[in-house]
Amino acid sequence: MADKVEKTFKFVIVGGGIAGVTCVEQLSSQIPSAEVALITAGPHIKAVTNYKQVSKMLEEFDVEERPASVLEEKFPNLTVIHSAVKSLHTQSHSVETADGRIFGYEKLCICSGGRPKLLTQENPYVLGIRDTDSAQEFQKRLSKAKRIVVVGNGGIALELVYEVEGCEVIWAVKDKAIGNTFFDAGAAQFLIPSLEAEKPERAAPCKRPRYTTEEPAAGASHTFTADRNMQGRSSGPTEPGSALGPDWHEGIALHGAEQVSRRVSVEYQCEVEKIFTSEELLNSQQQTLRPENVGSWPVYIQLTNGKTFGCDFIVSATGVVPNAEPFLYGNNFALADDGGLQVDDHMMTSEPDVYAAGDVCTACWEHSPLWQQMRLWTQARQMGWYAGRCMVADILSEPIELDFCFELFSHITKFFNYKVVLLGKFNGQGLGPDHELLVRCTKGQEYVKVVLSGGRMVGAVLIGETDLEETFENLILNQMDLTPYGEELLNPNVDIEDYFD
Ligand code: FAD
Repeated sequence: MADKVEKTFKFVIVGGGIAGVTCVEQLSSQIPSAEVALITAGPHIKAVTNYKQVSKMLEEFDVEERPASVLEEKFPNLTVIHSAVKSLHTQSHSVETADGRIFGYEKLCICSGGRPKLLTQENPYVLGIRDTDSAQEFQKRLSKAKRIVVVGNGGIALELVYEVEGCEVIWAVKDKAIGNTFFDAGAAQFLIPSLEAEKPERAAPCKRPRYTTEEPAAGASHTFTADRNMQGRSSGPTEPGSALGPDWHEGIALHGAEQVSRRVSVEYQCEVEKIFTSEELLNSQQQTLRPENVGSWPVYIQLTNGKTFGCDFIVSATGVVPNAEPFLYGNNFALADDGGLQVDDHMMTSEPDVYAAGDVCTACWEHSPLWQQMRLWTQARQMGWYAGRCMVADILSEPIELDFCFELFSHITKFFNYKVVLLGKFNGQGLGPDHELLVRCTKGQEYVKVVLSGGRMVGAVLIGETDLEETFENLILNQMDLTPYGEELLNPNVDIEDYFD
């Protein structure tokens, strides 16, 4: 193996998503002389732009897909290798790519993301949405669709059902309320009317330019063109691209074949029992399963609540599986229950000199009581950045402490056109019955929920323009005893900011 190594780099990063790119940036700026390689399966990389620190913990940013050459121009010691890693040999400190090349590393960071947890593999009527190409495939199929079934209750499903127009949507969720990953039933109740209302005009244009890879002329290299409206021709990479993130649907018209605005019906507390083609359904022994218009839809889905729906296709939005397989064979990685590569408080896996960050890893250090891992864009950035710092500290034999960003879970996003801020144990995660909730809700305007434990604030959900995020973040971080304030804490007539200043 050693004699076949094409080149050995000080640092090798696998994956051109947010985690990998942030890690590369961190390494290259901390040790500009170090030779760094970024090996990535897709033709483009993801770049964080317009980064804004909203408060101590909350951060907001846009993400752009860019040609990898942009990164190489910025960091002269960086080499981008466009191929998927096929195997990893931790003993010899080398990786082998799909195009048969072998590269050595001193320190490796795996940032290969995740892939959609599909309801069923290789069913042409079941789509997952992960990267720009799968989003475009979804858009294409949707333009001809009259009815789709969305299965799942996380962020992607929430965004989809809100955004799709001109097509009936049946939304199957396994919980009693929508958006269970992010909200409790009260917040879901607050949001539901938005599904029935007309969608407001979109204010902002698409913020994420798409770079399409045009078919190269013989002997020519790839050329990239910025295509703001995503209408350009894409040669469609065969390898998995990076995961999408906030605003993924902006700039893509999510319109079905009909003139109707939005038509969503939710099927609660059910999972998928079976998926049939119309032929299979016709031949089925169970006559009771058949909906009235059997034969007119290409695919049918039977839910565990006994209902069967025909539709044009099914969207499987049931989460992601960490993309760890290519690295496992022949090595001794400790894997978490969710299939992620276990990492410690230095983002190190169980294999020497191998780090991991982003969706592929599972944080296995002892978490702060106010933090939990969620496979989100912000955490991919924070982990990539921190992994880079840890790799450098290791090379320089310097000590490093777990970064402050892992003290408090914080996430800012938009659902159903409302600003949503989630802090700490926003859903009372892991607190058992030992917590108290305070809620304030003004229909159509705001929903504020505070989670208290032993009189101290440990989490909050803020929907709408509440302007409370900074104050609540401080109250959570300083763990002040709020017992004396009781329900006054959410009294809309009290200016809470002044109160605690
Ligand atoms: P990825 O972005 O998936 O990048 C992985 C990279 O690894 C890719 O470049 C891929 O090509 C490469 N790769 C994979 N396998 C190999 C291999 N064997 N060899 C070489 N390279 C490889 N998060 C939010 O915070 N807010 C949101 O609103 C939000 N919305 C989302 C909507 C959608 C539709 C999806 C799919 C995700 C969304 N997320 C959101 C989640 C967020 O996008 C991910 O958590 C984040 O992008 C993970 O970043 P990553 O760098 O770990 O992985």
